Amino acid sequence: MSAPVPTHCPYCALQCGMHLVPLPGGGAEVAARDFPTNRGGLCRKGWTSAALLTSPERLTTPLVREGGDRRRPLVPASWDEALERVVAGIRRAQAHKGPDGVAVFGGGGLTNEKAYQLGKFARVALGTSQVDYNGRFCMSSAAAAGTRAFGVDRGLPFPLEDLAAAEAVLLVGSNAADTMPPFLQHLAAQRERGTLVVVDPRATPTAQAAALHLQPVPGTDLALALGMLHVAVVDGLVDAAYVAERTTGWDEVRRLVLGGYWPERVERLTGVPAPDLRRAVHLLAGARTAMVLTARGAEQHSKGTDTVSAFVDLALALGLPGRPGSGYGCLTGQGNGQGGREHGQKADQLPGYRRLDDPAARAHVAAVWGVEPASLPGPGRSAYELLDALGTPEGPSVLLVHASNVVVSAPDARRVEQRLDALDLLVVTDLVLSETARRADVVLPTTQWAEEDGTMTNLEGRVLRRRRALDPPPGVRSELEVLAELAARLGAHRFSADPRRVFDELRRASAGGPADYAGITWERVEAGDGVFWPCPDEDHPGTPRLFLDRFATPDGRARFVPVHHRPVAEDRDAEHPLYLTTGRVLGHYQSGAQTRRVPELAAADPEAFVELHPDLALRLDVQEGEEVRVVGRRGAAVGRARVTPTVRPDTVFMPFHWGGAGRANLLTNPALDPVSRMPEFKVCAVRLERVGAH
Ligand code: SF4
Repeated sequence: MSAPVPTHCPYCALQCGMHLVPLPGGGAEVAARDFPTNRGGLCRKGWTSAALLTSPERLTTPLVREGGDRRRPLVPASWDEALERVVAGIRRAQAHKGPDGVAVFGGGGLTNEKAYQLGKFARVALGTSQVDYNGRFCMSSAAAAGTRAFGVDRGLPFPLEDLAAAEAVLLVGSNAADTMPPFLQHLAAQRERGTLVVVDPRATPTAQAAALHLQPVPGTDLALALGMLHVAVVDGLVDAAYVAERTTGWDEVRRLVLGGYWPERVERLTGVPAPDLRRAVHLLAGARTAMVLTARGAEQHSKGTDTVSAFVDLALALGLPGRPGSGYGCLTGQGNGQGGREHGQKADQLPGYRRLDDPAARAHVAAVWGVEPASLPGPGRSAYELLDALGTPEGPSVLLVHASNVVVSAPDARRVEQRLDALDLLVVTDLVLSETARRADVVLPTTQWAEEDGTMTNLEGRVLRRRRALDPPPGVRSELEVLAELAARLGAHRFSADPRRVFDELRRASAGGPADYAGITWERVEAGDGVFWPCPDEDHPGTPRLFLDRFATPDGRARFVPVHHRPVAEDRDAEHPLYLTTGRVLGHYQSGAQTRRVPELAAADPEAFVELHPDLALRLDVQEGEEVRVVGRRGAAVGRARVTPTVRPDTVFMPFHWGGAGRANLLTNPALDPVSRMPEFKVCAVRLERVGAH
């Protein structure tokens, strides 16, 4: 048997350490590995992650539409033929519509090198401004709120191990017990001490582990946070010395919360009892060290940025950010959710977290890329706006999708399908025939995580090494090879397919930016448990803890941001009297394109389901296990009823991991946050029907 290769799980942002042991007959076995984020633990997804390497569903040859006709089936093709079709389609679109006739859609699962190369490919090889990625649907609201408060966004500005030093934790909108189970180890002290407070409209396993569970009406977290701030002010819990020394803007926020967010009003808005609200604030403020953590539940709203800002304001008022054992952080979800947003595949950013509209940033990156700054396009459309423009007279007519399954994961999924079908050319690069790949004109098969080298940046801002343990099957290529080959065919020749060379270029491009990787080498990453950015030179130790002395704002102070509660974008009415909220299950990751193909995971969580409260089930005469239809204003989805008191009586819950009729995103609302452009995934209005009754 070959030697175990130390690497990391391919799925979520915890990036648990594991060993891969290559097997003589092909494939590999997973073994646990002690690493600071997982301490030897892995969840079900991690333990079974090697199954996909040898899956019969894996793509090993390019596919194209027979005769180039979309009505005909996908058939195997040579790489040359497939790439020529892509290049011909790109040239056609550019001739008709100019550079923005071609769009690129990336993913938060791509390695740092691929995310970097994808952004560069879009802006240099294609010259298009139309590039964004699925991270826009993930943590963009927290990124926007973090940047406006602290001057820079790093999911957790401290290592996970610091959680042990926090006497109390407020966790908002995270079901980590299901999404990243090994994370729960880091909350052991607070669970034991009875100082874990969870905010979630569902009594998830995470909420059930808390000493106090606040269960608001979906879409009212912002009011809840403002109510907590009100209590902090009125009950004299604000850290006045910290506020005076380390922040600006408090007076306006203080006036705002005193004027409108007293607990009884907040109880009417959120459904959270005023005494519970007070108890939560006193629990946090009474601790010598405390942390406030948010995740998708707070962020995936049309007011997600303001919601996170309100929780950041609370953390600042209590004097937490930048103090050892205390702070605010966002639990990023996707495997490279952090790195994926730093290296330039975002519509408005260049590598190193630089702003695309900053002349100095453009000049720096253009010099690394060997192009004129003026040749770089400006900011493009955000993810949903980009998808919604496809195939329209003003929008792109060609789309290249990498590591994303938008047919399942984007909001208002039927509309997204229609837009994809209106394209002249859809190219999907993936390892399996996902729901999005099925609609493509050209499908390009890729290597998998265990077959390639690279780096990832986990939810702590820790840069890690992904190592190649196996040879890929003949017929597949890495995204870096695909991009280099396409770039060469398009006449752009500065695209390496070697991940190490790409990383070295990324280091130069990020140098001096907010996410500075200049001093991070593969050797340093391999020598220990990764290196935290910013790390400006090779003698620098990296920065596990941000903000200890100053925040990354021009004056070094954190900014309070005044925000107000506002209603959900789509409220209930007589026809749609329930809220729908969406989320995840233990056995599946993101759109499920990978995990639904792992037999053990598919057996444990085989199909879409709908959680409803027993009172609602009684009223509608719904029995456990029967098929129900959730009907909204944009479509309907079907799932099996799970009757449970863990969901509010006014709310139903659907996970979003399945395709077909069980797609929760057939229902979700594409109303966008004005700052982050995040869609309102977490709440829309629906009604419930018994399928058998029709
Ligand atoms: Fe760890 Fe996340 Fe992988 Fe589970 S899915 S093993 S929590 S990295």
